[in-house]
Amino acid sequence: MDFAYTPRVQALQAQVQRFMDDLILPSHGDWRRWAEAGVYPLDVIEPLKVQARAAGLWNLFLPGLRDDEPGTRLTNLEYAPLAETMGRVPWASEVFNCNAPDTGNIELLHLFASAAQRTQWLQPLMAGSMRSCFAMSEPDVASSDPTNLGTRIAREGDDYVLNGRKWFITGAAHPHCRLAIVMGVSDPSPEAPAHRRHSLLLVPMDAPGLEVVRNIPVMQHQAIEGHCELVFRDVRVAADQLLGAEGEGFAMAQARLGPGRVHHCMRTIGQCELALELMAERALERMAFGRHLSDFANVQDWIAMSRVEIDQARLLVLRAAWRMDQEGNQAARTDVSAIKLVAARLQTTVIDRAMQVFGAVGLPPDTPLAALWSWGRALRFLDGPDEVHLRTVARQELARSRAHRGENVLHLQRWLPPDATDGAAWRGPPAVGKAPRSRSGKGRRFACRAPAG
Ligand SMILES: Cc1cc2nc3c(=O)[nH]c(=O)nc-3n(C[C@H](O)[C@H](O)[C@H](O)COP(=O)(O)OP(=O)(O)OC[C@H]3O[C@@H](n4cnc5c(N)ncnc54)[C@H](O)[C@@H]3O)c2cc1C
Repeated sequence: MDFAYTPRVQALQAQVQRFMDDLILPSHGDWRRWAEAGVYPLDVIEPLKVQARAAGLWNLFLPGLRDDEPGTRLTNLEYAPLAETMGRVPWASEVFNCNAPDTGNIELLHLFASAAQRTQWLQPLMAGSMRSCFAMSEPDVASSDPTNLGTRIAREGDDYVLNGRKWFITGAAHPHCRLAIVMGVSDPSPEAPAHRRHSLLLVPMDAPGLEVVRNIPVMQHQAIEGHCELVFRDVRVAADQLLGAEGEGFAMAQARLGPGRVHHCMRTIGQCELALELMAERALERMAFGRHLSDFANVQDWIAMSRVEIDQARLLVLRAAWRMDQEGNQAARTDVSAIKLVAARLQTTVIDRAMQVFGAVGLPPDTPLAALWSWGRALRFLDGPDEVHLRTVARQELARSRAHRGENVLHLQRWLPPDATDGAAWRGPPAVGKAPRSRSGKGRRFACRAPAG
């Protein structure tokens, strides 16, 4: 694995950094003023989008672009350091048309949309002239297990009719959000396999019967793009708005979540780098009990641990991105779960330390820290809670162990005292699978007792 950034990526990295320094960061005050007044800051974002696209900094996240599609054609590995830089300002990725949830939706449409769906939805999304949301989670069921989802998608003549309630739907309050990709049950029969019951439907946000009930505050903060509750009451959509085939919703949703999850993690690395830089600067300046905070051993430990943990997480992000590029999203599934888990925890850990060094001013919106910490806390749910990702990693580890049972038996047996009697200690698993190699190099069946000598 070679994670060195190529000259092209280094040049793009410098270009994105300049764009952030010269145009995005200076606009942040305006962005906040609009957002705090409850108005989506289109006047700030739209002109910046024009400049980003003109500079070639557009759709940077999508490998495999077609010749007629606008973008930079980077691999996931190449995109990682650029997303890290964008992550330092939470709204910046929209300027480069690289924001969630549109990136995941674009990938989904890129993979599965019909020609007509590409024209109607994918092209305007890639051009940045509309936004979209992905509506999966529901208040009535544990949505970390999508087989539970109950929203009904019923075929009636040439239409599908939708009934159900979704919540925490990111992006649904964006004034340009025109599309909801909705996951629902198309085959309610009890004998239908659990992973073949759901379908994905492309639902225009202005469809009669679709109501945005509320924008749900997260940690008492109301995101201007929205994490919304949506109700679907007899929403009627033409049958040609089904994405893929009936029953493929689960498989398609899985395909969507790989790169989208890793993009969040890439941005997390950038946000943690920012928090570490702020923490170190504050510690060098602030004095208590006659010393700079940076002179206290615990603050040095926090700084050092943050450095080490961010670097570890970055390497894990790069490995997940590399594996997606080399072996595909499905093969990288466990790597994606691992980094999603690590990144979400890293974000709250590092930013919590930074807040502590800042003292009370770490909590109000006077610094980026409170908003970044809250986002880190939310990350431990969105795109699946930590426990689901832990389960994915554990399952792979146990499957590997099952396939190699008994191979470490000598490590157990050689540690036994020579006079150990049968049953005195665990001597390894029963003799199944491959036998360990003998010293002569020839395989042999092993017995569950201490070898002589
Ligand atoms: C800010 C934010 C944005 C979001 N954006 C979207 C969006 O755009 N679209 C969308 O559809 N959803 C979105 N969500 C919802 C998110 O995907 C769900 O919250 C998540 O999947 C968990 O589902 P749940 O809340 O129903 O928790 P539940 O499924 O009820 O789980 C509750 C808890 O049970 C435990 N648990 C669950 N499974 C296991 C397991 N296998 N082993 C051990 N413990 C387990 C975990 O501790 C978990 O936190 C968003 C959420 C947030 C906070």
